[in-house]
Amino acid sequence: MHTLERADLIVVGAGFYGATIAERAAADGLRVLVVDRRPHAAGNAFSEPDPATGIEVHRYGPHLFHTSSEAVWHYLGRFTAFNDFVYFGRTVHAGQSYSLPVNLSTICQFFGRHMAPDAARALIEGQREVPAGREPANLEEKALSLIGRPLYEAFIRGYTMKQWQTDPRLLPPGVITRLPVRFTFDGRYFSDRFQGQPLDGYPAIFARMLASPLIELRLGIDWLDLRRMAPAAPPVVYTGAIDRYFDYAEGELGWRTTGFDTEVLPTGDFQGTAIVNYADPEVAFTRITEYRHLHPERAHPPDRTIIVREYPRFAGRHDEPFYPIDRPEDRQVLARYRVRAAREQRVWFGGRLGTYTYLDMHQAIALALRDWGTIRARWFGHPAAPNEAAAPTA
Ligand code: UDP
Repeated sequence: MHTLERADLIVVGAGFYGATIAERAAADGLRVLVVDRRPHAAGNAFSEPDPATGIEVHRYGPHLFHTSSEAVWHYLGRFTAFNDFVYFGRTVHAGQSYSLPVNLSTICQFFGRHMAPDAARALIEGQREVPAGREPANLEEKALSLIGRPLYEAFIRGYTMKQWQTDPRLLPPGVITRLPVRFTFDGRYFSDRFQGQPLDGYPAIFARMLASPLIELRLGIDWLDLRRMAPAAPPVVYTGAIDRYFDYAEGELGWRTTGFDTEVLPTGDFQGTAIVNYADPEVAFTRITEYRHLHPERAHPPDRTIIVREYPRFAGRHDEPFYPIDRPEDRQVLARYRVRAAREQRVWFGGRLGTYTYLDMHQAIALALRDWGTIRARWFGHPAAPNEAAAPTA
């Protein structure tokens, strides 16, 4: 065990970004202390078997691994094997079930007739609303410019209002570009080349990433308490919320979290697929996940299943922040925190919470792999090797 003083590097937060930094640092021979205030590693990817059914449930909402980065896929492949789960999205609107993201199947069904790609494209072209002479400035404008008003109002507006409780005209346009629009019958949610669920669950990945004898993991420890006792601590990679780090001195950033309502039901299959979104504002939850479907290779009870409904809401200071809302006022507050962060010579801010950026798992890993070269050069004097300088793209 190395104490705080004997560690070369402290990593605050054992999610994908922090665990990747710790793993890389230990591979370079550094002694790393990883602290996390929660009682488990894996961040929001944490999962565990439900005691009633044995089905693995993701405690902070479904985490579906996907990436087009060969570097990230191979890196993670050192710590887990994957099943062949590919997510085909579904959404319910006005009592009907549709394929999501919007694709040729969605378009044909919604408009009530078979169409070839060119015909569908021409139809949507006529419905698109593109701002004259400028880029779409917010999520609503972006969605209208991509799919037009009828599809936007059916599948995007209500869901987005529920997800963010924020007018889509105040949300950044980038959020909606997470969803592709396809004029083919490809109904995969993600277009990425590599997709799958870790065969023995997410926590097993972290156990292997953090297995080096050079890494010490301390759970249930809040770094913001510990740092007061350790003024001469080694450099820190901090992956917690950036506003919390500075004790909210510049104001609170907008974060969203999710409430979960879990139910065990007496059936072997509740909805026939892993996740069903509910697009209409009248339905209070955004989506239902039936976790058994993420692992078709496993033996699950034939007569019981577990489902989880999601109720997104604003995160208070004591909630786990999930998503940065990133409204214009948040960006002003963030700019002030970034000035403060730049002054912290011995702290590197990373990950979804540390940079206030909507990162998926694969992007957090890619950024950590890239950033490690910079962090190492800054504090430990080893420049990145040439083959590492070509960072994997997210
Ligand atoms: N979205 C939507 N309808 C849906 C699914 C997504 O309008 O049925 C919008 C919504 O604004 C959401 C964004 O697309 O915030 C991104 O969705 P994604 O599934 O990527 O969010 P995740 O839950 O993975 O963070």
